[in-house]
Amino acid sequence: MNLSALGFFRSLRQDNQQFAVIGLGRFGRSVCSTLHRLGYEVLATDIDEKRVSEALTEQIVGHALQLDSTESAALKEAGIFEFDTVIVAIGNYVQESIITTLNVKEAGVPHVVAKASSEVHQKLLKRVGADHVVFPEYEAGCALARTLTKPSILERFDLDPDNSIVELIVPDEFHGKTITELQLRNRYGLNLLAVSHDGKFLINPDPTKRLERGSAMVVIGHNKDINRLPI
Ligand code: ATP
Repeated sequence: MNLSALGFFRSLRQDNQQFAVIGLGRFGRSVCSTLHRLGYEVLATDIDEKRVSEALTEQIVGHALQLDSTESAALKEAGIFEFDTVIVAIGNYVQESIITTLNVKEAGVPHVVAKASSEVHQKLLKRVGADHVVFPEYEAGCALARTLTKPSILERFDLDPDNSIVELIVPDEFHGKTITELQLRNRYGLNLLAVSHDGKFLINPDPTKRLERGSAMVVIGHNKDINRLPI
């Protein structure tokens, strides 16, 4: 996630309680079950009757319907166009995914999130009007490569291509030093946002706090400076 997604997420209505999910593959099901567990109303649809009944039996959604989402009339009849946010979770059927996205955007659904399964698919989804495109396989691959090459970085939030907030394991070199002694701002140009303590994060820690090996710290700054840390 980065700044380019900001406009989309800011435009989502905070009081929106209802979502429609089209496609009940692994991705669609995980979106449904999470929204459902969080207490939101979810209408799920799939062309495959078996997947629809499984979703209902497993209680991952409140409502599920069998329909072909490439047919605009079927979407209209099911009330999909009345939703504020629709998730098109059809990754492996590019044509169906594109037509479905086009259908919901043409009908005026304000927030459409679509899943891509390739770069070309991602471009096509944007062309037909998807407001936000996710490409989970690509994103997970990038995250894994980063973790493998920098195992001490536990989490990373890209603010833009150059700046990030990262959670990392306190480097051995920092063990036993206070935040003042470390001089992260002068030496690395980084700001320390939090350190972990007893399984919780201490936000804006006191400068006299000593860092401990094995705990975690959260810094914000330029990627080049983050890469200069002794990790
Ligand atoms: P995976 O499950 O492999 O992680 P995924 O979550 O992207 O991938 P797909 O394999 O793309 O899922 O399947 C998405 C679902 O979309 C399937 O259950 C399929 O039946 C459904 N689907 C495909 N075409 C249509 C359509 N025209 N209308 C509605 N649902 C459709």
